Amino acid sequence: MAEKKRFQAIKGTRDLLPPETELWNRVEATAREVFGTYGFGEIRPPIFEPTELFARAVGGETDIVSKEMYSFPDHSLWDLEGQRTYILLARPDAGNPNSVQLFVSALDKFIDQLANAASSREIPATSDNDRGFERLRAGSDRISSFLVPHATNLLDQFDLTVGHIQQAAALIKLGDLVSLRPEATASVCRAYIEHNMNQWPQPVKLYYLGPMFRRERPQKGRYRQFYQIGAEVLEREVAGGEGRVASKELEKDAAVDAEVIEMVMTFFDRLKLPGTQLDINSIGHNAPECRRGYVEKLRGALLEVKEQLGEDSRRRIETNPLRVLDSKLEHEQAIIAALPKIGDCLCDDCAKHYAEVKRQLGLRGIPYKENWRLVRGLDYYMRTTFEITAKGLGSQNAVCGGGRYDGLVELLGGPATKGIGFAIGEDRLVLSLQEAAKEVASGEWGVASEKGACDVYIAWMGQKTQETAIKAAQMLRGAGLRVELPAMEQKFGKALGQADRLGARHALILGEDEVASGLWTLKKLADGTQEKVAAGDVVKRVKESKSLRVRPHP
Ligand code: AMP
Repeated sequence: MAEKKRFQAIKGTRDLLPPETELWNRVEATAREVFGTYGFGEIRPPIFEPTELFARAVGGETDIVSKEMYSFPDHSLWDLEGQRTYILLARPDAGNPNSVQLFVSALDKFIDQLANAASSREIPATSDNDRGFERLRAGSDRISSFLVPHATNLLDQFDLTVGHIQQAAALIKLGDLVSLRPEATASVCRAYIEHNMNQWPQPVKLYYLGPMFRRERPQKGRYRQFYQIGAEVLEREVAGGEGRVASKELEKDAAVDAEVIEMVMTFFDRLKLPGTQLDINSIGHNAPECRRGYVEKLRGALLEVKEQLGEDSRRRIETNPLRVLDSKLEHEQAIIAALPKIGDCLCDDCAKHYAEVKRQLGLRGIPYKENWRLVRGLDYYMRTTFEITAKGLGSQNAVCGGGRYDGLVELLGGPATKGIGFAIGEDRLVLSLQEAAKEVASGEWGVASEKGACDVYIAWMGQKTQETAIKAAQMLRGAGLRVELPAMEQKFGKALGQADRLGARHALILGEDEVASGLWTLKKLADGTQEKVAAGDVVKRVKESKSLRVRPHP
């Protein structure tokens, strides 16, 4: 008999359960509300996209793309996949005609079915696939010749031919490679292009929320399926912007950046997220007279201190020197503090833009800290980068990261477009709110506030009462109240005990007397007082006493 398996959520994923989900929903409702007031509309892109989209947008050299994405070929040709596996694992023996025959038959069957799938367009028609196909056919012809007995002395050639066939089989793409999204900016840009949003009134302001997937090492505040709430502002670039026009555009962009940052900070304020800190920086743009020049200068300075750096930083000198600035290693901090700063290497336009962003943040009354080491891990950022940290999160204390990414839409094959956006880590945001609730006695976001999730517990006794209890539940729920209706009648004491455990605010007590008289008993569980209320007035009474409760904001 098959052993009984106890399934568990996959490492790095988790179930979000009530009452915590109530907090998640409130966070999301607040995001929708606040973002709505800034004119943002919701976009819901798919959760998987072509792997290439992320490789191109996020950057093939980033950790996310190079080792953290969940990717798989998208097809349902399991028969063909099985045949391929057989061919890849087979070790035909040139001295044994039976074994050669089996291999040749499997190969021919694979080639026939591939041809069918190609003609019905079930597999991608790429030039690589065409080439692989030709090599398989050639291999099949050659290997068949070994079926003639005298060929056994050509053993080397036989193994070589099998090797070639296996290589060609491995390279055939049965389906396009797709990935679970590790972030959503690439998808939003893809959608902007696909739906010609450059023809919509500009700028296009979109927000999204939902799960992202990265195969990172799980720890507190870091998961493999995590949730982000993000927003993007995309705007068609004006052609031929030079001189005064270009200068005005810089000012406008800076105001947009500041407004986006203001929106996140307002959202956090509305949630009463304590201890937030906004760090900002400008990483210039990708040109020799700006960031590229800085990177070379940085690389030079890093080479001089190479011997004192850790292994990761040493490797990054070649691959991505900016990432050295992210280092958290204690002994590297003093070395990094003495490195050249990007602020001294910005081109005139980027410097002007950065100064204007700071002025704009000032106008909006938003405190910030300049952090020249804030470079962010994704390739697409330029000029403004920002990060917001919160309390109670340990080392994973960034709740939001964002920045400007002019040119990304164009890189993905769209028109010249400017962009700025951010992503909030919702798991961390919720964690930080919960930690804060533990400290503050009000317990605003704690589990305590989730008690009383039930407005009315219906304690009904006597079979004849059930119909009235059902009708009462329908009426109260119809009025938007949360009602618990036990499936079976209960003894009075047990019913009240259960109501208490659920944190119900009221018990509606229905016995045969109440049904007969139409006067129902409503008990307030906080103070134990009870009164008789006409059936038609119960909704009103419950709502009145509900509104007397001090409700947490929002
Ligand atoms: P990024 O998309 O890397 O810029 O991240 C934006 C925000 O998403 C971060 O500041 C975190 O709050 C959150 N985040 C990123 N990766 C994870 C993860 N693996 N688990 C939980 N939150 C994450």
